[in-house]
Amino acid sequence: MPNKSLSEYKSDRSYEELVATLKSVERDFDMKLIDKAYRFALEAHKDQKRRSGAPYIVHPISVAYILVELGMDTESVVAALLHDVVEDTPTELDTIKKLFGEETANLTDGVTKLGRIPYSSREEQQAENLRKMLIAMADDIRVIIIKLADRLHNMRTIEFMPEQKRRDKALETMEVYAPIAHRLGIRAVKEELEDRSLRCLDPIAYQEIESALALKSADREEFIRTIKERIIKRVAPMIPNVYLEGRVKSINGIYRKVFIQGKSMDGIYDIFAVRVIVDTVNDCYNVLGIVHDMFRPLPNRFKDYISTPKPNLYQSLHTTVIAKEGIPFEVQIRTWEMHYTAEYGIAAHWKYKLGLTKSDAFEQRLVWIRQMIENQQDNEDATDLVRTIKSDLAPEEVFVFTPRGDVISLPSGATVIDFAYAIHSAVGNRMIGAKVDKRIVPIDYKVKTGEIVEVLTTKEVGHGPSRDWLKIVKTSEARNKIRQWFKKEKRDENVIEGRGELEREFRRNSIVMPDADMKEFLEAIAKRQHCSTIEDLFAAIGYGGVQLWRIMPRIKEEYNKLTKPIAVPIVPETKPQPASKASSGVVIEGIDNCLIKFSKCCNPLPGDDIIGFITRGYGVSIHKRGCTNVPKDIASCAEPARWVKAHWAGEIKEEFKSTLEIVATNRTGLLADITIQLSNMHIFIHTLNSRETKDNHAVIYATITVNGLEHLKTVISKLSNIKGILSIGRS
Ligand code: MN
Repeated sequence: MPNKSLSEYKSDRSYEELVATLKSVERDFDMKLIDKAYRFALEAHKDQKRRSGAPYIVHPISVAYILVELGMDTESVVAALLHDVVEDTPTELDTIKKLFGEETANLTDGVTKLGRIPYSSREEQQAENLRKMLIAMADDIRVIIIKLADRLHNMRTIEFMPEQKRRDKALETMEVYAPIAHRLGIRAVKEELEDRSLRCLDPIAYQEIESALALKSADREEFIRTIKERIIKRVAPMIPNVYLEGRVKSINGIYRKVFIQGKSMDGIYDIFAVRVIVDTVNDCYNVLGIVHDMFRPLPNRFKDYISTPKPNLYQSLHTTVIAKEGIPFEVQIRTWEMHYTAEYGIAAHWKYKLGLTKSDAFEQRLVWIRQMIENQQDNEDATDLVRTIKSDLAPEEVFVFTPRGDVISLPSGATVIDFAYAIHSAVGNRMIGAKVDKRIVPIDYKVKTGEIVEVLTTKEVGHGPSRDWLKIVKTSEARNKIRQWFKKEKRDENVIEGRGELEREFRRNSIVMPDADMKEFLEAIAKRQHCSTIEDLFAAIGYGGVQLWRIMPRIKEEYNKLTKPIAVPIVPETKPQPASKASSGVVIEGIDNCLIKFSKCCNPLPGDDIIGFITRGYGVSIHKRGCTNVPKDIASCAEPARWVKAHWAGEIKEEFKSTLEIVATNRTGLLADITIQLSNMHIFIHTLNSRETKDNHAVIYATITVNGLEHLKTVISKLSNIKGILSIGRS
């Protein structure tokens, strides 16, 4: 087991140990400079002691030691040795600059300043602190890594602190430092910080989990040992340089699932995991195929973080499988480079001189970050660095602050209007402008992480949002709240707007009839949309509660029924607007607003000839006409009335799951080629299984998401070009 229990870490290091490690690693260090820093710090701290009673110099040495383990460079080690000199002794920063150069002085200064940020459990303070941390990252990301090492050593020696201080430090570590370590992808530091904090904050629960793990540790080790043996036996003959290790989830990880998500220890599938490390991405997918062949995969537990890396750049294939004994366990498959990044995150930059593989977008991103860091060392604008790194680390979310310091998280691309509505609909409705970091910004300004946003409002009665905002906002929350306002406040306007829209649409579709008939016709539509009058229907269309493009196919169908004696299938003449994912895109004749689901047996796709079946209580299920579950002769089947005509509502782009059965001549790299082809086409893979047949063929089942039949056909034809593939069918 590579996971160490907390007591196995050595907290205090001597200078001799530091020197020995510096010499043992392959990187080049400026030993003269490091030695000079050591002697300088030794002198400056000579009268100070740690709470443990040890000479103070042990702390900077231990911090430097952690940094070497993380793979950091000479400047970082020197800055670590000096990091408390300016803070705790009469030494001036200028002296450091003269003796050790500008870069080291800046690093030391950055660490010192970070240390001065007071921690408060009050939210506004916390936000301010986090903001300062993010800004510090802008100057030099090494500042944060040194600070993390500093905190790690302090947490390793926390038992010497008085009780209250211990809890404060632990809370701060849990809430500020561990998340930053996570963002930077430094797993080892993140997990140790969390586990050490948890041990202070909830010692009883910590004990409970630790002893529960210890209780079964012999069984568990035996279990993992057999699993590893079985996997290596199958994989080793086919794939070179396979390395396997077992790992146990961190105690804090288990704690969160047990005490916060309310799961039982047995219900946590990834308490233990087997990690498989190989040389190439191809090998990863090949190992996955073999593992899925050996063990039954649990549905929906396969995650491909190789084609879609996590925000902190983590990459691996994850799958949970069940051993014959019925015990589920997780298998993580990755290359060495992915492994280094998973363990050391951004620090891997200094530790491993990772080479550039051209097909690897992830690799390019790392190289790109490296270049940004180098640029910044040439004294170019550093704020850009952090902005880009941050948006890379968390592309899907931004964190902004209210003037009071509350953190508001918004999807990336959100505007100040989204921010206003996220606070309260009253704030949004009365908004007349906004300030970001005290400067007035345009109303469509997109907020960025770390900014303080202030909404300017008016007290004027009756002031409301503008309809144009609907096109600007990013969040559905804001959009809904704006619509709500128009619904309530602007009924007359909505009626006019809605009537106009409907009339235009009717004209376009040549829907004409005498007024009396039209009234009856519209009343029927209104009723179907749960509007009590035609005017209500107009109003609903006006504020967007009823979306015309969604109901038009049905209206046209009704109209055709009225005007033509024989019902003909409707071919939509107008191009429908893109459907939301919620709509099923299917029209059932004679039934409106019913629950529609796509049957799993034949997974119908737009373009397929389909039919509906009225189930007992689950709405209508849609099958392909040719599905084996559809009777050949409906009129004479058991329940003919349950089968209803159904057709697609137009060329609505929508996502569908489809399972492909791929038969191929077996060869190494086959699975990888398929996966790479799919990911080149940006196809999301839900599951991927492969098995070998006796005649040396491979049968691969891939469940993927496609945008319809045409899309699926393209995918199949692209895949067919892969060497060795004999047939591809839909299963
Ligand atoms: Mn310190």
